[in-house]
Amino acid sequence: MKKILVANRGEIAIRVMKTARKMGIKTVAIYSEVDRNALHLRFADQCVYIGESPSNKSYLVGERIIEEAKKLQVDAIHPGYGFLSENAEFAELCEKNNIIFIGPKSKSIEMMGNKLAAKDAVKNYNIPMVPGYDSAITDPKKAIEISRKIGFPILIKAAAGGGGKGMRIVENEKDIEEQMQRAISEAVSAFGDGAVFIEKYITSPRHIEVQVLADSHGNILHLFERECSVQRRHQKVIEEAPSTILTPELREKMGKAAILVAKSCNYLGAGTVEFLVDSELNFYFLEMNTRLQVEHPVTELISNVDLVELQIKIARGEALTIKQDDLKIHGHALELRIYAEDPMNNFLPSIGKLTTYKLPVGEGIRVDNGFEEGMDIPIYYDPMLAKLITYGKNREEAIQLMIEAIDNYTVEGIFTTLPFGKFVCQHEAFKSGNFDTHFVKKYYSPEKLKKEIEEEAQLAAIIGLKMYLEAQKILKIPNN
Ligand code: ADP
Repeated sequence: MKKILVANRGEIAIRVMKTARKMGIKTVAIYSEVDRNALHLRFADQCVYIGESPSNKSYLVGERIIEEAKKLQVDAIHPGYGFLSENAEFAELCEKNNIIFIGPKSKSIEMMGNKLAAKDAVKNYNIPMVPGYDSAITDPKKAIEISRKIGFPILIKAAAGGGGKGMRIVENEKDIEEQMQRAISEAVSAFGDGAVFIEKYITSPRHIEVQVLADSHGNILHLFERECSVQRRHQKVIEEAPSTILTPELREKMGKAAILVAKSCNYLGAGTVEFLVDSELNFYFLEMNTRLQVEHPVTELISNVDLVELQIKIARGEALTIKQDDLKIHGHALELRIYAEDPMNNFLPSIGKLTTYKLPVGEGIRVDNGFEEGMDIPIYYDPMLAKLITYGKNREEAIQLMIEAIDNYTVEGIFTTLPFGKFVCQHEAFKSGNFDTHFVKKYYSPEKLKKEIEEEAQLAAIIGLKMYLEAQKILKIPNN
């Protein structure tokens, strides 16, 4: 493998290119109209324009990307996450054109891309699943019948769902019909597939996922868990590894279950098996993501591996040289997703120019970044600017480092989730490890964040004044 095209943009494109370079592999970047001056282009050996700014005219146009890849004699395509990374047709198109798709086979993507098909695939492997009805459902009467059996609250979910979309919590029978209609129309508009199903709504769950790696020689490993319970709109904002609630026994059990899920779909490469864990520490399979996750760096830091390097090696047909018993958890890692969003205003996207943009540096700090000062945030794509990752000997150290790194991360011109990240890291519930997916709903409000920022400003002013007065005292000492 001499040349890889990275079919993505932003921080993940850069992150993949860095590893490719380390391995002596040349890279090709692709870009849309609005990304003509994007940062990821500077990390590639070659750059190729692939279309207008909207992603359905550029980063999502598989045929065009393949055409350019062939012209440039590319051996493999790394899809990153999002865009075409979980598109079975694209993976197949690569296979047909003799280009290696750095990821699983299209068949596995297809199986795991649909939540119902995924449940079906794992059902013979004794994997615990959220109680529910595992077929598509359209009749509200039948939905009421099923919900009575499961018990309210229930969750109506889109089979093709992703990104927290197409999910509706229903508390009682009278709301079922309306919520079902809404879930169906949301699913049609977001995924072009209106199939929905019913799951028991687990009231206080934690979202815990397991990283897996599978090679083409039958070896499958798990690289421990990531705790992703701090979410807004069912989407992750802060992730960490390891989770504070897993015992070594539960970790092994969930790791083994994740390996079986990978086996059930004949998996290849890096993937993530997502679980919900309830307050009694029962775990349930949610879904499998057949790609590199946004939050993969926390796993890299605690297990000392480069996941992109292993993805590339697996795609080259090499066997994994690490054994499960060689893998150990070292220290603790935390990741904050820095979105161009306003935490004071319902996390709405915040567009504009990055008038000031300075990253923190230091031991234990990693920033996977896709932007620089002076750039505009395009409205066309996911509004994530970067990921701030900290690593310490233990959780307290990683949290403290995160607070300091947030203070040293300067962004002006747009709003970001940085102050929200600091709020979470300073919150007792987060610090104690005692929280669930409702952290934001339970503990966060813009007023609280505002109060915290004002208190900090006041404290800084008092410290400043004290320092000033002390300096005055020194100056006033008579010189005799
Ligand atoms: P998506 O593919 O859209 O990300 P997931 O099935 O991965 O959807 O779920 C996303 C989040 O939604 C979970 O992390 C969790 O917070 C919540 N969720 C999903 N299913 C349930 C459930 N049955 N009970 C409670 N919360 C759930």
